Amino acid sequence: MKIVILPGDGIGPETMAATVEVLHAASQRFGLNLALEHDVAGHESLQRHGATVTPALLEKVRAADGLMLGPMATFDFKDESKGEINPSMFFRKELDLYANIRPARTWRGVPHKVDAFDLVVVRENTEGFYADRNIASGRSEMLVTEDVVVSLRRITRACCARIARAAFELARARRKHVSIVHKANVLKVGDGMFIEECRKVAQEFPDVTVDDFIVDAMMAHVVRAPQRFDVIVTTNMFGDILSDLTAELSGSLGLGGSLNMGARHAMGQAAHGSAPDIAGQNIANPFSLILSAGQLLDWHGRRTGQAAYVAAADAIVRTAAAAVEAGESTRDVGGNLGTAETGRAFAKRLLGAEP
Ligand code: NAD
Repeated sequence: MKIVILPGDGIGPETMAATVEVLHAASQRFGLNLALEHDVAGHESLQRHGATVTPALLEKVRAADGLMLGPMATFDFKDESKGEINPSMFFRKELDLYANIRPARTWRGVPHKVDAFDLVVVRENTEGFYADRNIASGRSEMLVTEDVVVSLRRITRACCARIARAAFELARARRKHVSIVHKANVLKVGDGMFIEECRKVAQEFPDVTVDDFIVDAMMAHVVRAPQRFDVIVTTNMFGDILSDLTAELSGSLGLGGSLNMGARHAMGQAAHGSAPDIAGQNIANPFSLILSAGQLLDWHGRRTGQAAYVAAADAIVRTAAAAVEAGESTRDVGGNLGTAETGRAFAKRLLGAEP
């Protein structure tokens, strides 16, 4: 498997270095023969090539089997005409990475305020209320007068159906329960279509239980009893917000992996940002990026029918659980190691793990 590695901004280079160490260990332990191709995006690419991402980089990523994208200083990138393109949006759009898979679970050794849980938010990634990606050219936000803005939300049957299918397929490999989250009481046409398409796809998965929740009520349900959820499928903006809530409920945003996947490509990405406040200090938590790398291996393994990749992904999750419980982690989740030491300890533990 060929993976393009883009470390990103802020804490990206540190957390990606730890992740690369873990990928090498996974490759060695499970015979994956991983080929990692290092390149740059974000500020470093802006300095070197005049743009945060380039057409040549896109071609390199298209030719690879997967991409690991470090956190980007997206807030700094304001003017696309000066090459300041949001790399995360760029790859999601160009590679049609329509499903954002964000697992959240509690971990022994990390304090959490709710009962133990293990769920996955499956968020539509290509349309909805995202003004920078739901039309072919330009942005779907208009300044009508100096005091009036109209923002368009796009919902299409095809995108609803494909995100629903991603959720049901995932549920089939888990506890066989899908919860649809929507606001169809207000967005009757758009979210009405979303529910309709989800329910249609559900008919192909009679072994999977389905229920649905209005998004505002869902905030209460997921805080009160997150353990009742398995796979949650929702539209773009609701999924963005809900998945940060579930990650935080798990004890730390730093323990949430994130995979953006499409029909042919996938991108592992940390759930958090570039954290400039702690960059360069060797204290950033690399788990989110490491777990995302595990998700990328799992995606590749399932897609190509190669069990070794799925086994490596499982081992990465189990190693993360054991490492966190043993305190082999950064201080934000109760350990006392630096970023580099956390990556090294993780790789060592993974090499010793049972498949
Ligand atoms: P952030 O997620 O970078 O940081 C929020 C807080 O969490 C900070 O206190 C930070 O120190 C802490 N934190 C984040 N990741 C951590 C880690 N791995 N270990 C320990 N602590 C961690 O959010 P922000 O400060 O609002 O944004 C900083 C930059 O990141 C902005 O330019 C923003 O646009 C960008 N951003 C990028 C992505 C992405 O690339 N997917 C996502 C969110 C934010």
